Amino acid sequence: MNGSSAGTFVPEPSWLTLPFWEHANRGVLCRQKCASCGYDMFPPQFACRRCLGTDLPWVSSSGRGRIYSFTILDMGTDGRPLPQQKVLADVDLEEGWHMMTNVVGCPPDRVSFGMEVRVVWQRLSDRINLPVFVPE
Ligand SMILES: [Zn+2]
Repeated sequence: MNGSSAGTFVPEPSWLTLPFWEHANRGVLCRQKCASCGYDMFPPQFACRRCLGTDLPWVSSSGRGRIYSFTILDMGTDGRPLPQQKVLADVDLEEGWHMMTNVVGCPPDRVSFGMEVRVVWQRLSDRINLPVFVPE
């Protein structure tokens, strides 16, 4: 963690996740889609989880989806209480893939299963533009 606001984890791109962060830097949410079988994958993999194919081009998403599951966090990744609660959610994107993310722009007690959400971006550094979701 480096100079972020309390409880905000700043991701460090790896060789595997770098394409995701490069797209994110331009405000494009994407996932890998297997060229052999069409399976959508996130988080990034080096081989398809369904057919083990290794041709995994990055494909953009509309950034629209629904909350599949969520929990309300009181503590940050450093174990300290957060200044305000955060919502950690598993969002089901409309293209049929999932990502773990935060839901913002809405009181935590208003978040519900199946709620329609869309991506917005939080710039954490010159390299990291973090996708988070707001109610649609
Ligand atoms: Zn595949």
